[in-house]
Amino acid sequence: MPRPLYPATLTAKHQLSQNTVQLDFRVEAGFDYQPGQFVQLHLSFKGQDYKRSYSIANSPESFQSSQQLEIAISFVKGGVASSLFSEAEPGLELSIGGPFGVLTAPEHFDGRIVLAGTGTGLAPYRAMIPALKKLVGEGTRILIMMGVRDRADMIYEQDFRDLAALSESIEYRACYSREKSLNSSANEYPGYLQNQFPQLNLSPEKDLVYLCGNPAMIDDASAELKELGFGPRQVKREKYVFSS
Ligand SMILES: Cc1cc2nc3c(=O)[nH]c(=O)nc-3n(C[C@H](O)[C@H](O)[C@H](O)COP(=O)(O)OP(=O)(O)OC[C@H]3O[C@@H](n4cnc5c(N)ncnc54)[C@H](O)[C@@H]3O)c2cc1C
Repeated sequence: MPRPLYPATLTAKHQLSQNTVQLDFRVEAGFDYQPGQFVQLHLSFKGQDYKRSYSIANSPESFQSSQQLEIAISFVKGGVASSLFSEAEPGLELSIGGPFGVLTAPEHFDGRIVLAGTGTGLAPYRAMIPALKKLVGEGTRILIMMGVRDRADMIYEQDFRDLAALSESIEYRACYSREKSLNSSANEYPGYLQNQFPQLNLSPEKDLVYLCGNPAMIDDASAELKELGFGPRQVKREKYVFSS
C-alpha cells in the first residue's frame, strides 16, 4: 500500500555552510519516523513534478516538540531541488512522503558503533543524538566521523563536539581531504574518512559501521571493510545517489 503524503510548509532557511542550507518544514500531525530515516520531497518546478530524497536531520523528540522537520541540502549547480530551494521563501508548500530507510540506530549494541558520513551524510546521525546518548548510557561506544573537503563545507560540527564532550565513550573525528592547516589535538585529520580505518582497530565482532553520503566514499569504505571481514549485517549504508 502506498504511504500517505503529508502537507508541509517551509518555515525557515538557515545557512549551515558555504553551500549547504537547513530547511525547516512544518509538517502535519501524524507524521512519525525513526532517527536515521529519510523523506521524499514532492516538488513542482517550472510546471513539472519531481521527487527528491533527503535525510531527516533532527531527532523525533525535537520534531514532536516543534512539529518542524529539519533537512540539510547541499546545492548542486543546475539541479532542480537546488534551484528551487536556493530561491524559495518561507511559506512554500509541498508534500512529504515517507519515512523510508533502514539506516537506524539499534535498540542495544554491545560494542562500538562507527557513524561515518560525508557532507550532509552526517544529518541522519544528528537525528540519532538522543538515541546515541541512551546507547552510551548502556555501555555502547560511539565514533562519529565526518568527511568534508575543507572547513567551508563543515556542518553541524558543534552538535557532535558537544555530544563527544559528554562521555569518554564518544569520539568525534573531522576528516578534511583538502584543508591545509589542521589541529590534531581537536581530532582533525587529513584525507578521506576511510583513510582513518587502519588506525581504528576495526573488528566485525565488536563494531557496527554506518556509511552515509557520497556514493564513492561508500564504495571505497565498503571494500575496505569487506577486506577486514565485515559482512552486510555489520555495515549499514545510505548512498546519496542522484535521481534519474
Ligand atoms: C536516500 C537519499 C538521501 C539523500 N539525502 C540527502 C540529504 O540529506 N541532503 C542532500 O543534500 N542530498 C541528499 N540526497 C541527494 C538528493 O536527493 C538530490 O539528489 C540532490 O539534492 C540533488 O538534487 P537536485 O534536484 O538539486 O539535482 P538534480 O536535478 O537531480 O541533478 C542535476 C544534475 O546535477 C548533477 N548532480 C546531482 N547531484 C549531484 C551531487 N551531489 N554532486 C554532483 N553533481 C550532482 C547530476 O549530474 C544531475 O544530472 C539524498 C539522496 C538519497 C537517495
